[in-house]
Amino acid sequence: FDIREDSLSTAEKEFENALRPLKFADFNGQKNVVENLGIFVEAAKYRGEPLDHTLLYGPPGLGKTTLSNIIANELGVGFKITSGPILDKPGDLAGILTSLEANDVLFIDEIHRLSPVVEEYLYSAMEDYRIDIMIDKGPSARSIQIDLNPFTLVGATTRSGMLTAPLRARFGINMHLEYYDPKTLQRIIKRSAMLLRVPIEDDAAVEISLRSRGTPRIANSLLRRMRDFAQVKGNGTITGEIAQMALQSLNIDKYGLDEIDNKILLTIIDKFRGGPVGISTIATAIGEDTGTVEDVYEPFLIMEGFIKRTPRGRMATKLAYEHLGRNPYAGDSM
Ligand code: ADP
Repeated sequence: FDIREDSLSTAEKEFENALRPLKFADFNGQKNVVENLGIFVEAAKYRGEPLDHTLLYGPPGLGKTTLSNIIANELGVGFKITSGPILDKPGDLAGILTSLEANDVLFIDEIHRLSPVVEEYLYSAMEDYRIDIMIDKGPSARSIQIDLNPFTLVGATTRSGMLTAPLRARFGINMHLEYYDPKTLQRIIKRSAMLLRVPIEDDAAVEISLRSRGTPRIANSLLRRMRDFAQVKGNGTITGEIAQMALQSLNIDKYGLDEIDNKILLTIIDKFRGGPVGISTIATAIGEDTGTVEDVYEPFLIMEGFIKRTPRGRMATKLAYEHLGRNPYAGDSM
């Protein structure tokens, strides 16, 4: 299961949208974030003002898009969605900004990937609700100022460190999403199962929750695959037994690590004698992009205790050796 959103097929995206909670009350977990956002939204509504610009930051699949959608719903305003890499030219951004109605929410996913010119444009839009547009070319070129409706920008990023200081400074609200604990994931899985009208037994929900990398997106897509197994190999109910069978067929390991997680660990252990080794060296060795390894894979591996960060680089832990059936004492760097 690939967790990156841009690798999702259209069918998977539709599936995700169908399961997206639309109210804070239906959004499980991230208690602190939800409580705070709830208050800020309520206050903005009370004053009839746009919500402050909000930055949501955290690994993929934890609910950034979902939350921004909820914010718009709870505010009772319109919602537009775009992403950093899609906004190629200032004109693209201007087109969206001028289409916003008062207090609407504009969601920019992967905001750290905005081009510098587009980002520059965003500054005055965020600050003064105003943009300068160049019209005409050559000697008659001139810029005109356009007033925008007040709006809320919700930016999402997996890499808060990649945001420029001026952009970061323009967000009044800054929220960090955490990986979900198994109990919360179980509630999410049961809610999704109910929406999909597929019966699921408790021990199956537990099993899925433990193998989802703390990520609702993965929990939901595992559930989707299990539904197939239950309908073809069983009587339609996702039982503990069906769940076990499916997880085995899908090669999902005990800790929910995926192929790339395991590749990272194996690389550190087998090629670099357990480390320490730099993140870009690891990324090159497995043919992945450094940023992806750092934002998508490493945080989970560190949280679960498979990797530790040292001043000289990343090291595999005893748990990683044991998980991969390697002898931790064979290397010399433990
Ligand atoms: P992100 O934008 O952070 O990559 P999304 O908001 O697209 O993540 O969430 C991915 C999927 O997980 C969606 O289908 C969404 O419905 C589901 N999801 C995420 N967080 C929650 C949650 N707290 N409760 C229920 N479903 C969730």
